[in-house]
Amino acid sequence: MPVAELRRRVGNVDEVDAEVALAGAEVIGTRLVDGTEARVKLRLEALSDGVVIGGSAEAEWTGECRRCLEPVSGVTNGEIDEVARPYPLDGELGIEDDRIDVTEAVRAAVVLGLPLAPLCREDCAGPDPEGHPVTIADDADDGPAEAEERLPDPRWAALAEVHPDR
Ligand SMILES: [Zn+2]
Repeated sequence: MPVAELRRRVGNVDEVDAEVALAGAEVIGTRLVDGTEARVKLRLEALSDGVVIGGSAEAEWTGECRRCLEPVSGVTNGEIDEVARPYPLDGELGIEDDRIDVTEAVRAAVVLGLPLAPLCREDCAGPDPEGHPVTIADDADDGPAEAEERLPDPRWAALAEVHPDR
């Protein structure tokens, strides 16, 4: 955000709508869509020794339903409330070359709004048994010969029904 103009006079206010590119970020089971651009509305106000930044940011996220593991997605949003100074104190943003980099503040705001364990819908019943059949081969790296060995011989199927223990 360029702030040279804004900082010419204390009390100047700038309202900005912007898109901020965020690299992916992830919390448990939920992540920001790769390459997503957060939509940001900011109000910047010049102080004698810095800039107050307030506003909101929103971005798309994607993840898996915690019960059925189907993909879910949504929009996260968060509030931004920062102070930027040329010589920032702990937790403040910097002002360098008359610009403020708000990327980390925007990322923090939207990541805070990510759901930790999303549901595809409130009454999700869990995995659909037909969508997740139980398979015998659980290791795709096995050679074809080994995989074949593990498959039950259809000729034994009838026997297995007679002697379920074998
Ligand atoms: Zn679900």
